[in-house]
Amino acid sequence: MGKGISYKTGMALMLLAATALLYVFVNRYTEELPEMEALAAGNIKEGEKKIALTFDDGPHPHYTSQLLDGLKERGVQATFFVTGEHAQMHPEIIERMHKEGHLIGNHTYSHIQLREDNRDEFKNQLVKTNEIIREITGEEVQYVRPPYGTWDKGMEKELNMFPVLWTIDPLDWCSTNVEHIRKNVVSKARENGIILMHDYYPSTVTAALEVVDELQKQGYEFVTVEEILFD
Ligand SMILES: [Zn+2]
Repeated sequence: MGKGISYKTGMALMLLAATALLYVFVNRYTEELPEMEALAAGNIKEGEKKIALTFDDGPHPHYTSQLLDGLKERGVQATFFVTGEHAQMHPEIIERMHKEGHLIGNHTYSHIQLREDNRDEFKNQLVKTNEIIREITGEEVQYVRPPYGTWDKGMEKELNMFPVLWTIDPLDWCSTNVEHIRKNVVSKARENGIILMHDYYPSTVTAALEVVDELQKQGYEFVTVEEILFD
C-alpha cells in the first residue's frame, strides 16, 4: 500500500511539474508573439520605399477589371485618372475602384488638351467629370492629370484641384511588348516615383502586374499619389 501511495504521489508530482512547465511555455509564447510580430511589421515598414502606379484614360470595360483583380491579389492601391466619358459608361468599375481603396482622379471628359483658345471648355470638362465621379463615389475629386501634361496653374485655385504629373513614362500606349514595358519601368523605378500607364491595353495590364511583383521584391511599397505628394 505504501508503495501505492508513493507511486501515486510520484505521478501527481510529475503531473504538477508538467503542468507548471506547460504554463511557463504557453505564457512565454503568448507574451512574446505579439511583440515579435510588431517588431517584424515595424522593420518591414521602415525599409519600404514608396512608389505610385497611375493609370490614365480608363476605365476600360475589360482590361480595367483585369487590372483591378491583379492589384487586389497583390494588395496594391493605385491611382486612376479617368475620363468623364468612360466613367459614365462604366460606373460600376468606378465604384469598384473606390471600394477597393484606389484613388480616382480627373482626366477631363473627352480627353482634350488645354490650349489658349479652349480654356473655358477645358475647365467645364473638369467640372463635369468631377460631378460624374462624385455622383458614383460620394467623394470630391481633388486630383487632375491634364492630358498631355498641359496645365494652367490658375485653375488650381479656381477649381480647388491639384495637378499630378509623372516621373516614369514607359510609353506603354505605343508598345504591345510586355517585357519592354516592364523593363522600362523597373529600370527607372525610384523612391517616391510616379509611374504613368494606361489601363486601356492588355499589354499594360500584364506589364503593370509584373512590375508590381518585381518592385515588391525590391522592397517597394505601392501607394496612391496622395501618399507620395503629401506624406
Ligand atoms: Zn490620357
